[in-house]
Amino acid sequence: MPANSPSPDLDAGASGYAKRTLAAQAMGQIDPVTRAVVPPLHVSTTFLRDPDNAYSSGFSYGRADNATVREAESVLAMLEDAAGALLFGSGMAAAAAVFCALEPGDHVIAPRVMYWGLRRWLQQEGPRLRISVDFVDTETPENVRAAIRPGETRLVWIETPGNPLWTIADIRALADIAHAAGARLAVDSTAASPFHTQPLALGADIVMHSATKILNGHSDVIAGVLACADADATWARITAIRAGWGAILGPFEAYLLMRSLRTFPLRAAAQAAGAAALAERLGQHPHVSTVLYPGLSAHPGHEVAARQMRNGFGFMLSIRVSGGETAAIATAAAVRLWKRATSLGGVESLIEHRASVEGPDTPCPPDLLRLSTGIEDPDDLFGDLDQALRAAHAGDR
Ligand SMILES: *Cc1c(COP(=O)(O)O)cnc(C)c1O
Repeated sequence: MPANSPSPDLDAGASGYAKRTLAAQAMGQIDPVTRAVVPPLHVSTTFLRDPDNAYSSGFSYGRADNATVREAESVLAMLEDAAGALLFGSGMAAAAAVFCALEPGDHVIAPRVMYWGLRRWLQQEGPRLRISVDFVDTETPENVRAAIRPGETRLVWIETPGNPLWTIADIRALADIAHAAGARLAVDSTAASPFHTQPLALGADIVMHSATKILNGHSDVIAGVLACADADATWARITAIRAGWGAILGPFEAYLLMRSLRTFPLRAAAQAAGAAALAERLGQHPHVSTVLYPGLSAHPGHEVAARQMRNGFGFMLSIRVSGGETAAIATAAAVRLWKRATSLGGVESLIEHRASVEGPDTPCPPDLLRLSTGIEDPDDLFGDLDQALRAAHAGDR
């Protein structure tokens, strides 16, 4: 860490403090000049050279690096127990950097159930990058074992819980399968967040988050992050891609994100408790045919989720509305408190009919509503869904 950039005075490894403690104080980062408890926002794009032509601060140009971005990255690396973290201008930019670090001819395995924007990007851009992608059901490790091509498959990409069915992939089992074939394992852990899952500790090489979601949590920043188990040659290539292709997060967004990270563990705990309560109550609802939530023992991924997640099962769930697509859309139309909007992880609860968004090749059933649980009172959230489900079924007999 350069001498005049704020350096964490709380060492994540040696302090013994809980992650919640370290996050609350942004790892003790203060402004070394004024001793301000909140470090200043660094907006400068360029930095003075020393008379001997060196850059003794370690900073030269804002497209490669920025002190505010670094401060947020150090908190994110602490949350993931990572060797390093890099912030990007969006979750998509972070994910794209991992695929762009592959070589032409490389083979990739990706999940059938995954964030639809990335699935579509892989379908459209994969052929141009000359990487071939097989989409398989990663909930069953045997499917990945059967699809992997030793020496040719360089990357296994998984998402757990997987959007929007909240499918669970066994990170440890898939890391073993990937590594045995000479491939790396990358995990889109957006829906788990570092509060529930630590993919690197389970053997993953790279973890990715859309920091737009619960990490920022206030629906006012688009950001993405990658964190690595080892700062190896691939990580250096990803770092060069971020600088060369101009994908770094802006300093103001990094500042807002760092503000949010101070309360992230509290928000994540409240949102997971709310989601669990909703899942339980919606499971009894006469107009709900299925609740998809990995915390329910009936969920097909529950056993693996119980092993690899902690502090609960996250803030995301989906319901399948009895009466099909028309009833699902009518339910979303009738909410008063829930906000009908895309995205997830914010403090305000969101509801969305995903099949309308994802298009014809989606694995998402047409009667499914995706629910992102915020921090509102769970009784209020349930009451609103209950009245909306009843309103949507008012004409039934
Ligand atoms: C939102 C999201 C992304 C994309 O992130 P952006 O910040 O919107 O670019 C990727 N994966 C998952 C699981 C997401 O929810």
